[in-house]
Amino acid sequence: MMSEKFDVIIIGAGAAGLMCAIEAGKRNKKVLIVEHTSKIAEKIRISGGGRCNFTNIYSNNENFLSNNNHFCKSAFSKYTQNDFIKLVKKHKIKFHEKKLGQLFCDNSAKDIIKMLITECENQKVEIKINTEVKSIIRKKNLYILETIDKKFVCSSLVIATGGLSIPKIGASDFGYKIANQFNLKITKLYPALVPLTFKNDILEFCKSLAGISIEASVKINKTIFNEGLIFTHRGISGPSILQISSYWKPDRTIEVNLLPQNSMDKTLKERRIKTPKQNISNVLSDFLPNKLAIAITSLLNTNQKIGEASNNTLNKISNFINKLNVLPTGTEGYKTAEVTLGGIDTNEINSATMECKKYSGLYFIGEVVDVTGHLGGHNFQWAWSSGYVAGQNV
Ligand SMILES: Cc1cc2nc3c(=O)[nH]c(=O)nc-3n(C[C@H](O)[C@H](O)[C@H](O)COP(=O)(O)OP(=O)(O)OC[C@H]3O[C@@H](n4cnc5c(N)ncnc54)[C@H](O)[C@@H]3O)c2cc1C
Repeated sequence: MMSEKFDVIIIGAGAAGLMCAIEAGKRNKKVLIVEHTSKIAEKIRISGGGRCNFTNIYSNNENFLSNNNHFCKSAFSKYTQNDFIKLVKKHKIKFHEKKLGQLFCDNSAKDIIKMLITECENQKVEIKINTEVKSIIRKKNLYILETIDKKFVCSSLVIATGGLSIPKIGASDFGYKIANQFNLKITKLYPALVPLTFKNDILEFCKSLAGISIEASVKINKTIFNEGLIFTHRGISGPSILQISSYWKPDRTIEVNLLPQNSMDKTLKERRIKTPKQNISNVLSDFLPNKLAIAITSLLNTNQKIGEASNNTLNKISNFINKLNVLPTGTEGYKTAEVTLGGIDTNEINSATMECKKYSGLYFIGEVVDVTGHLGGHNFQWAWSSGYVAGQNV
């Protein structure tokens, strides 16, 4: 079988792999990217609703979950969000801050893909699509990759195959398999930034409200997010739910506040005096979408004139609105999750280089590593930063 030699081979043409290739190319390395699908950077294309939330102005290690929360600091100090913003500006891509420091393309996520491809071309990076790596062997500090018709040899091998989410656009467990082959620890994997699902009464409640969105706060222990919540046919979603899903484990309840800016206990008791003839659902409609107000009073069987309601009834309603404890039955899984929580154990990797501690020349970058960002551009920033760092060291 024919074989071809490269300085660096990167498996996975996603955000991290492309960034690593560009940086290694700038150091005059002969670089090959191997991608098993027919397309480059599909996740970038579908990200941020097609506009790619490519970074966050406020990104720092507090926006990440990992067994070692300090691990990502080194990469972030070497390649910051401002470095990526500079690159975006160099390519004259227009962008805006949507909210909370989240930067989106004005036009399309394809602008970011085009930018990365242009940079790869400038550095003469070779990209092979539709190419499946059948096996990897390490021999005398070299890595030998076998594909269906050819062997590739390199001194630096970078695994940038991402996580398990959205298999239909190319996600695979390849990175974890390679970690297993090299006896590297992997932390437990979970779908994260994912809608939560319910059964029984709460499911019926959510279904009846599908499409309605509110600003809510959601909490597990001391972790709290105040963002949008949307009811769906399977449960609840929206930014606040996606965020808290990264902290949720089976059998754990979530505290939801459907009206965080208002203490309904006090408000309902005041309204009992001020507007005693109003139905409770009408009172609630002053604060919540009408359909939600009606659904709450019918679920709790409390639709009566507020003047006739007991303290017990009003407490029941205010607790439902401000302190609703719900037990999700599951998540929508990797089919819709934005990321995989967990990954290659950070203890296996040198945070300053992204090189594996046990095997010189083997690198892991991006989502395949146990570094998982909050919603809001942090995951891409991790891909850029970890890709950059590996690119300086391969
Ligand atoms: C719907 C959606 C929206 C998102 N929106 C945002 C957002 O706006 N902002 C943000 O920060 N994050 C967002 N994310 C998360 C973000 O896309 C990922 O965290 C990021 O793409 C990870 O980069 P990566 O390079 O590690 O992996 P990926 O971008 O997933 O790239 C991995 C690449 O490896 C390839 N690959 C997999 N297996 C193999 C194999 N065996 N051989 C060869 N190639 C292989 C894949 O096809 C893919 O091209 C979103 C995710 C989803 C699913």
